[in-house]
Amino acid sequence: MAARNLRIDPQRLWDMHMAMAEIGPGIAGGNNRQTVTAEDRAGRDLFKTWCEAAGLTVTVDRMGNMFARRSGRDDSLAPVMAGSHLDTQPTGGRFDGITGVLSALEAVHTMNDLGIQTERPIEIVNWTNEEGARFGPPMMGSAVFAGLIDEAKAYATEDSDGVTFGEALSAIDYQGEAPAVARPIHAMFEVHIEQGPFLEAEGKAIGVVTGVQAMRWYKARTLGEARHAGTTPPAARKDALTAAARLLLALDAIMQKRGMDGRVTVGMLQAYPGSPNVCPDRVEFTVDMRNPETDELNAMDREFRKAAEDLYSETGCGVEIEESWFSPPIAFDADCVAAVRRGAEANGHAWREIMSGAGHDAVNVNKVAPAAMIFIPCADGISHNEAEYASPEAVAAGADVLLAAMLEAAGTVD
Ligand SMILES: [Zn+2]
Repeated sequence: MAARNLRIDPQRLWDMHMAMAEIGPGIAGGNNRQTVTAEDRAGRDLFKTWCEAAGLTVTVDRMGNMFARRSGRDDSLAPVMAGSHLDTQPTGGRFDGITGVLSALEAVHTMNDLGIQTERPIEIVNWTNEEGARFGPPMMGSAVFAGLIDEAKAYATEDSDGVTFGEALSAIDYQGEAPAVARPIHAMFEVHIEQGPFLEAEGKAIGVVTGVQAMRWYKARTLGEARHAGTTPPAARKDALTAAARLLLALDAIMQKRGMDGRVTVGMLQAYPGSPNVCPDRVEFTVDMRNPETDELNAMDREFRKAAEDLYSETGCGVEIEESWFSPPIAFDADCVAAVRRGAEANGHAWREIMSGAGHDAVNVNKVAPAAMIFIPCADGISHNEAEYASPEAVAAGADVLLAAMLEAAGTVD
């Protein structure tokens, strides 16, 4: 069927955002509503109240994932799912994740207002622990659901105080009965702020997300010689930190030459033995490398290793590179992506295709069911920061497109 151009209620959607933001306020206008805390519980309770007021039936699985269901004409059909996550980083914003959950709820409100009955049931989802700030890894609830992590392993994960995820979940009364395992889902849609600058810079209201870029993580170390800082002349030094600095600049060049497509980040670095008057003999650092294309990511890998060899011949400092994680590029379901594109066009919103630079719950769901994402612009691309902001118009556009995609996938009864 053709995509619909029904409009959601922007004010109602915005008011839900602001009411949710009052729960677990941060210190700078954002939120600290970390997963399975008292604040998370209060946010979940509010969401549940809203869902029940909209006539939905809320169930919770053993991971605390919440599903709010609206019956379809044929309830035996696989549902169309939409949602994201309500948890935040310790210094998180009011939109990351929240917009995806509340846009789905607003879409259902609009269906209710217009008396629309869908062929398939609709389910709004709030995935547990997307952020991974308190318990790692991130996207934990959807990962267990998709069979990518064992429930027992997730339950045993400890926070920095030694509290396990399982203990914390049962303490907030959100450990449900239903197993957290995938079941038939017809399609899943997730609205999310872009968390990058492109949509805003190009004046596009909607990012039709086609997939997620390939990522590779490394643990690397440069190896020199520990020598006296004052007595060792320049020619006799093998300073592992100076060598690491050169390698970091080489990595930056590997990123820069790829224009908009490459990403290289060294987020952690430690020098040893760690004394003010000793030349470091060892420096350990992480490297996070990303590219939309696996071939290009492989080329970046080769250039990194070549730079390490060159460094050895120039400085005598060896480099050890250990790959710790690889995630191939992910392509979202072509039909779901097309439904998002038609939704943007039907609503007259300027759009572009875009690859996600970050992981999301929809990526995990995409392993077990057709899925796609809708990005909306956020101010200056800032996220994981209390200053994170998306305008009421931006939020409304995402929900309009979500509604169209959901109705197309679920089918309507006329
Ligand atoms: Zn998020």
